[in-house]
Amino acid sequence: MEIRKIYLSEDEIPRQWYNLAADLPTPMQPPVTPDGTVVTPEMLAPVFPMNLIEQEVSQERWIDIPDELLGMLCRWRPSPLKRALNLERALGTPAKIYYKDESVSPAGSHKPNSALVQAWYNKQFGIKRLTTETGAGQWGSALSFACSLVGLECKVFMVRISYDQKPYRKILMSVWGGNCVASPSSETQSGRKFLEQYPGTPGSLGMAISEAVEAAVTDKSGKTRYALGSVLNHVMLHQTIIGLEAKKQLAKVGIKKPDVVIGCAGGGSNFAGLSFPFVHDKINGADIEIIPTEPQSCPTMTKAPFAYDFGDTSGLTPLLPMFTLGHNFVPPPLHAGGLRYHGMAPLVSQALVEGLLNPLSLPQLECYAAAVQWARTEGPICAPETSHAIAAVIREALKAKEEGKEKVILFNYSGHGLLDLSGYDAYLSGKLTDYEIPEEDLNAAVKSSLENLPPVEAKKSGKW
Ligand SMILES: *Cc1c(COP(=O)(O)O)cnc(C)c1O
Repeated sequence: MEIRKIYLSEDEIPRQWYNLAADLPTPMQPPVTPDGTVVTPEMLAPVFPMNLIEQEVSQERWIDIPDELLGMLCRWRPSPLKRALNLERALGTPAKIYYKDESVSPAGSHKPNSALVQAWYNKQFGIKRLTTETGAGQWGSALSFACSLVGLECKVFMVRISYDQKPYRKILMSVWGGNCVASPSSETQSGRKFLEQYPGTPGSLGMAISEAVEAAVTDKSGKTRYALGSVLNHVMLHQTIIGLEAKKQLAKVGIKKPDVVIGCAGGGSNFAGLSFPFVHDKINGADIEIIPTEPQSCPTMTKAPFAYDFGDTSGLTPLLPMFTLGHNFVPPPLHAGGLRYHGMAPLVSQALVEGLLNPLSLPQLECYAAAVQWARTEGPICAPETSHAIAAVIREALKAKEEGKEKVILFNYSGHGLLDLSGYDAYLSGKLTDYEIPEEDLNAAVKSSLENLPPVEAKKSGKW
């Protein structure tokens, strides 16, 4: 009988996170302010606790996971590595398809891997309350869950369109004790400004970040901090537990290395989490194709420039060196809410600049068709974001069939879609279309956003 599930026992869980910053052939450029001043850890202190800022700027390759935290992560970790045998058979491919099932966490996605870690470090630092933003509601629910575990208050600004389209995640947040409002809201200065400027706006992650950061830094007690679910270095770091587990699990079935590694990328965290340990191997000579995927309607990695840009819409955050559609970019309301961010994590961006990754953008209909094929072969209903990984997996598996190669394809099953059924409904009743942003609109958003910002050079070793 073929093996379908590979487990690690709790005492086999990785005890350190992997920090790609230590191994990038060309070091990352630092975050700066609009006048080009390099941002120091002290400047970030009103926003994040110092223990997480230390991780953010760390150049250490391995960072210990505290024992108490490991014990808490073991509520759902190690996550299983599974083989998609039925999809393989349906496709008639000689490829072996393995996936890390991150949908097994209480919030149903990979996000608690960082949410819990961030909540725990904030608690250690004496913080009482966290603020954050959420797109589809995955991060807001993950952080609400995490805060309830460690005993923090949680305030969530949720992108308006998702707040209206996805009421169930709001309820999840409430069950876990979080306080969720639609963004833009009238609770913050930046929210009121957006409402005035863009009446009826569907909102965006960037706008919601502005509100959440403002709510954190304006709390006079000094006991509120902000938590970001993706993009930043420390978030990528926390998620590497996924790829580190996957390596051990593949070794258990005698696989030395995957040939192809795939993950969908919104801000980049689940992709980075699975792939960075393999990017490490690639830097050290391994032959692995590493593919981050994104929607055609928000083509950050495939069509945007590498530039210094704000992480949010109103320019409160430092400028990050990243591929970006511009902080003024408002993506069309596609159902994969978690993939609507205008930028890409600086660590993922630098790996892209270096040529270590092969990004792919995918049309919405192909992704839903892949999600439905997945459900009808493997069974589970995937998150709309995850469908962008599965569509690429299917392309790669069919390519392996054409080439007659027994490749090992590994991907991140970033979350389930049981609270995203309205997107499936829209797809099945023929209401969805593909949408490619006209070149002029892309250029206009990039130009208006980046006009007065300092330039950044895309430096690379030239090895890949
Ligand atoms: C949030 C989310 C994503 C996208 O975020 P990343 O930081 O790029 O991982 C992908 N899949 C699921 C299920 C999500 O909830």
